[in-house]
Amino acid sequence: MARRKFVVGNWKMHGLHAQLPEIGAIAKAAEAAPGVDTALCVPFTLIERAAAVAGAMPIGAQDVHAEKQGAHTGCISAAMAYEAGARLTIVGHSERRADQHETSHDAWAKAVAAHGAGLDVILCVGETEAERDAGRAERVVQAQIEKSVPDLAQASWFTLAYEPRWAIGTGRTPQPEEIASIHAIARAKLRRMVGEEADGIRILYGGSVTGANAADILALDHVDGALVGGASLTAEKFVPIIEAAK
Ligand code: PEP
Repeated sequence: MARRKFVVGNWKMHGLHAQLPEIGAIAKAAEAAPGVDTALCVPFTLIERAAAVAGAMPIGAQDVHAEKQGAHTGCISAAMAYEAGARLTIVGHSERRADQHETSHDAWAKAVAAHGAGLDVILCVGETEAERDAGRAERVVQAQIEKSVPDLAQASWFTLAYEPRWAIGTGRTPQPEEIASIHAIARAKLRRMVGEEADGIRILYGGSVTGANAADILALDHVDGALVGGASLTAEKFVPIIEAAK
């Protein structure tokens, strides 16, 4: 099944209003690449203004709470993110798993809540360096998928991102054959969970993707796009990645 390439930026805790022109420039490049789906996940505080300058490029959140509302000081619900202008959200990012001790079950609950509020979902999985060194990367990723992918996941709103934790922000990436192998295993696991729908679900690679390595990574089997942190912060760095996906 043909899957359109999907390139998503994750600005993490970066970006003030002064960076809005950068988002406009990225959106312009995205418009010039109609064969590629591009989106940018920004801090909550930027969503509304980013959506206003992003034209047709969807703006996303980087997390949402699993509950619709309640006594959760400092948290944002999926409906709030949607109302601000977000049309997608990341859930289960490894920085949240590490910093906020979020589990795969939390990621599952957030994915379900986000979909219920009308947001598309990018759910992240990935092993630590110690798990890879112990030869457990495949099992860890399969277990994370098992526990965090909703049974009702559909290609129209759900995307999986394989992000080895040790590759995020480090400038290190797995060998191409290692990326291809985990993506194939992830696809097979999705097939066992959601059947043929899995063939349409996009699986992104994330972890130190740059303009220099994007074309090689995006050419790998079952790699349907990229989730990009550091290299998505400026149009200068991000646009070559969008172009590599054309
Ligand atoms: C990320 O934050 O999801 C990510 C992949 O970061 P980086 O591209 O900086 O490694």
